[in-house]
Formats: sequence, C-alpha cells, structure tokens
Amino acid sequence: MIKDKVVIITGASSGIGEATAKLLAGKGAKVVLGARREEKLKQIAGDIRREGGQVVYQDLDVTRQSDNDDIVKLAKESFGSLDAIFLNAGLMPSSPVSALKTDEWNQMIDVNIKGVLNGVAAVLPTFMEHKSGHVIATSSVAGLKAYPNGAVYGGTKWFVRGFMEVLRMESAMEGTNIRTATIYPAAINTELLDSITDKQASEAMHGLYARFGISPDRIADVVAFALDLPADTTVNEFTVGPANQPW
Ligand code: NDP
Repeated sequence: MIKDKVVIITGASSGIGEATAKLLAGKGAKVVLGARREEKLKQIAGDIRREGGQVVYQDLDVTRQSDNDDIVKLAKESFGSLDAIFLNAGLMPSSPVSALKTDEWNQMIDVNIKGVLNGVAAVLPTFMEHKSGHVIATSSVAGLKAYPNGAVYGGTKWFVRGFMEVLRMESAMEGTNIRTATIYPAAINTELLDSITDKQASEAMHGLYARFGISPDRIADVVAFALDLPADTTVNEFTVGPANQPW
C-alpha cells in the first residue's frame, strides 16, 4: 500500500526524483522532498498540492549529515512517521581517467557514496525502532557494467549495489524488517548529463540519450511498485532501461 506512506525523496528537484515525487503523491503518499535548489522544490510542491497531494520540502545537501538528519525530523514533525527513503540524489560528470578531473571524482564520491551513507545513517535509528522501513536507492547500469568515461561514476554506483545488498542481508538477520530496493537505470532523459564537463564524453552521452533515452516516469513506476509490495516481500533489484538500448 502506498497511500499514507511517508516517503523522503533525495534529489527531488528534477528528473527521476521529481517524477517519483509526483507519482507517489498522486497515489496518496506523503512526500518529503530534498535537494539543493529550493526554488525548484517549491514549484514541484506547488504542482503536487494543486493536485491534492501532501508534500513538504527542505533545502538538502546530501553531503551534510545534519541536513539528512533535519529532513528526517521534518518528515516526522510534518506527518508523524517515516516509512521509506528514496536515496536518489546523484551526479555523473563522466570523463576518461586520463583527464584527471579529480575535483569531479571527489564530488561523485561525496554525493553518490557519502550522500547514500548519510541518508541511511539518518533513517536507520527510526526504522530499527519501528522494526519496519524501506530503503530504495538509485544505482545505475554503470553499477553493473564498467564502461569508458565511467570509471569513477561506475565505482560509486558499484558501491551502492554492494552496500544495499549487505544492508538487506543484515536487516533480515537482525529481524528489523528493513527492506531494500536498488534500481539500475539505463538512459533516462533528465538533467543528469548537464554535469559533464569533458567535451567528448558529453557529446557521446548526448548522442546515446538522444537515440535511446526514455522518460523518468518509468523509474517512478518501479519505485511505486517496490513500495506497494506486501510487508513480507522484497524485490531488491530492478534493472530498467529503454527496450532498444543494448547498453
Ligand atoms: P537529475 O540531474 O535530473 O537529478 C539529480 C538530482 O540530484 C537533482 O535533484 C539534484 O538536485 C540532486 N543532487 C545533486 N547533488 C546533490 C546534493 N549534493 N544534495 C542533494 N541533492 C543533490 O538526474 P537524474 O534524475 O537522472 O538522477 C537521479 C539519480 O539517477 C542519480 O543518482 C543518477 O546517478 C541516477 N541515474 C540516472 C540515470 C539517467 O540516465 N538519467 C541512469 C542511471 C542512474 P539539486 O541540484 O537541486 O541539489
């Protein structure tokens, strides 16, 4: 059941996060939106409220633990509980290793890896206390297959894959009933390519997405499916992409 579930969504200001926020709110979830662009969150919250949905939002930088703790507090104060978190914030400044874009490597590690850890650290005490909770994360097909220009991005997404699987196993062993779902999207048309500063990598990716990219609504559907599963069932992994993309 999605109705009345309280769900935090990180990276909710565009793309997959925005689409998911709108879909879940339309199905009766109480959504708590976080990202750095507060103005965009305000607009999205306005859209959701106009459709009769329940939503709050907060300026969130996932690299700061205190921001993650604050959004958990906001969810509980606004809606009285917390059922799930969608750890979706991420960026993909692709480039060859030889370009030595070390600032971008560090940024990906901070957002795509530490951002996920910070989010989990923020929700886990509540989920353990309730003996229930759902952690959903956006990895990538780059977390399943290595490819040129994706060494560091792929590494961060492999991390998400491994971490989420161990979280699932330990939760089952510890009897906390915390479920996980890791999503591995292929080409989804969002703002993701905007962070690529390497000219060749950018052109290659834009070519790929122009040819194959599909709507972020497809990933929102998968998040909704995972959240809707009965409490005794988990589908932990979803590889989702354009039907015609060999990737
Ligand atoms: P977008 O660029 O549209 O969305 C990325 C979101 O992450 C934005 O809302 C952005 O918000 C947020 N974000 C970035 N840095 C931070 C931060 N430090 N703190 C909080 N939020 C942050 O791209 P997508 O929707 O495609 O990306 C969502 C996820 O999907 C990412 O993890 C990405 O790696 C993954 N993915 C995407 C694929 C695709 O083809 N699009 C394929 C596979 C995986 P703001 O700038 O306002 O902070």
